[in-house]
Amino acid sequence: MCGIVGYIGTREAVPLLLEGLKRLEYRGYDSAGLTVMTGDDLDTHKAVGRISELEKALGSNGDRPTSTIGIAHTRWATHGAPTIANAHPHVSCEGDFAVVHNGIIENATTLRKKLQTLGHVFTSETDTEVIAHLIEEAYQDNLEEAVRE
Ligand code: GLU
Repeated sequence: MCGIVGYIGTREAVPLLLEGLKRLEYRGYDSAGLTVMTGDDLDTHKAVGRISELEKALGSNGDRPTSTIGIAHTRWATHGAPTIANAHPHVSCEGDFAVVHNGIIENATTLRKKLQTLGHVFTSETDTEVIAHLIEEAYQDNLEEAVRE
């Protein structure tokens, strides 16, 4: 069963997200990842296996992104093998939206085909990735509205 952590505040996000994922380790998982906002950009890091592998992928403290906003996920695969490409967060084509998700999207194949005809390029086998592209497709100037749609 996956674990999801989010943080927005004044403290460094990466250590808090990693600590949150560790506290959720009891739920079981096959891979892990996080995305933080650095200025206007999203910075995503992923690893297969334990949280310690994600910590290695993030490098030493000096190399880690500095941010006060982020999301993190431990994955229990349902759609696609446990690989780095399939680990969450999943990011939209232009890199503006990152998504973590727990569960199954029943109509993901239909949505994926529809989004591909609209020009969206998928980089994973997951059902989750359709959410990032759907939000990108719906977004005009209001994130809440795009997510609701
Ligand atoms: N269905 C999604 C996937 O396979 C989410 C799995 C989960 O809940 O961790 O990536």
